[in-house]
Amino acid sequence: MNIRPSQCFECETGTYKYVTINYFSELSDGRTCITKDVTIQRCDTCGAEILDSKASKIIESNIEHTFPGYYERSHSRRN
Ligand SMILES: [Zn+2]
Repeated sequence: MNIRPSQCFECETGTYKYVTINYFSELSDGRTCITKDVTIQRCDTCGAEILDSKASKIIESNIEHTFPGYYERSHSRRN
């Protein structure tokens, strides 16, 4: 086995490359949130995306900023 660290888990032929994109999140209640200029890793063959902890933090804080209380609300479900 000779797996490069940046080899894609999905297609096993592509390599992950760092790309800076506008990341599109679909929230559990159907709303959407775009986080601009997030650097993530994306496979150059199949397009599978990996968020590292830094990227997910940026996206989470943007969602929290755009929809204040979103994460709190999704924890306590009441009708
Ligand atoms: Zn791939």
